[in-house]
Amino acid sequence: MKKPTFRRILREFSGFLIFFLSVGFVVSCCMMLFLNVLSKEMGLVYTTENIAEAAKITFLNVLILTLLFKTVDFIRRKIMVEKPVKSITEAAEKIMSGDFSVRVKRMHGSGMEGFNQVGEAINAMTEELSSVETLRTDFIANVSHEMKTPLAVMQNYGTLMQAPDLPEKKRIEYAKAITDGSRRLADMMTNILKLNRLENQQIYPNLTTFDLGEQLCESLLQYESVWEKKNIEIETALAENVLVNADSELLLLVWNNLFSNAFKFTEEGGKVTLTLTADKTYATVKIADTGCGMSADIGAHIFEKFYQGDTSHATQGNGLGLALVKRVVDIMQGEIAVESAVGIGTTLTVKIRRM
Ligand code: ADP
Repeated sequence: MKKPTFRRILREFSGFLIFFLSVGFVVSCCMMLFLNVLSKEMGLVYTTENIAEAAKITFLNVLILTLLFKTVDFIRRKIMVEKPVKSITEAAEKIMSGDFSVRVKRMHGSGMEGFNQVGEAINAMTEELSSVETLRTDFIANVSHEMKTPLAVMQNYGTLMQAPDLPEKKRIEYAKAITDGSRRLADMMTNILKLNRLENQQIYPNLTTFDLGEQLCESLLQYESVWEKKNIEIETALAENVLVNADSELLLLVWNNLFSNAFKFTEEGGKVTLTLTADKTYATVKIADTGCGMSADIGAHIFEKFYQGDTSHATQGNGLGLALVKRVVDIMQGEIAVESAVGIGTTLTVKIRRM
């Protein structure tokens, strides 16, 4: 709030003076007219004394009236304008200094509607700002946490590799650990960038018509070495000629993430089933596994960024995969659902519009 300066006091005083002179002028003119009429009616004669007396009384009356009016106006302004303006200005100053917890209190009394509307808008803004701030700090904390582990692993193995006379087998093992760590970091950065692009920019899907069954097979085949190594049985039931008009690059991201999870969370000797069905309007893809499954509590959070329900596989991911999947499905105005039972398996169902 501005402090009363000499200039401000001068401005207030000159305001009062102008007001006083204009009221004085108007009232004096009226008075003179009134006296003129009265004197004519009563046959009175003007003398210098009674004119001076009338002017003095008029002047004094005007002075008292303006002072009274200005005092009432001053008190009204203090209560009705300056107080609410002060509380709004103080809130704005706190927001500027980064304090988003501030809220403007509701003001009571008539004539406060306008100020209350401004206050409500400020409160809505600070609520929005504080939730964005929480998201931002959570995001930074998550990224830093996710970066720390692979970096620590890489540092340790880097130190170990410096040992003289290191056997060749160990050297290869350590080099592999460093490569894995750096791949994990690179994967995480790629996912963050993709998610950022999908969340913060207006995405215009690049629509082409393609065979969804073929794309699913192409994605599944990328995991051939994994299912062979873990001896996982594969079952597919794909409706033929399911053409969709969609962004193939974005959809591939969905299948890759879902297959990656299915194989990651399924133990040796398990089974992964891929089903594609379609009607005229929708294509439905189900990717089911006989893996560890998840509880309903975990299932409720899996589409959140950096959420990892199963910590035993934490090093093999970063909790961004399903957040990306959900974002893509939303962009395509599709639906995704999860069904899971601990120790039995998980099924993820994605439904997208065909055309
Ligand atoms: P990440 O796989 O990197 O941990 P995701 O976002 O892909 O991250 O998945 C989030 C969490 O959802 C996983 O940590 C896991 O707890 C759970 N999840 C996802 N898919 C499956 C699945 N097929 N079986 C069991 N749990 C799963």
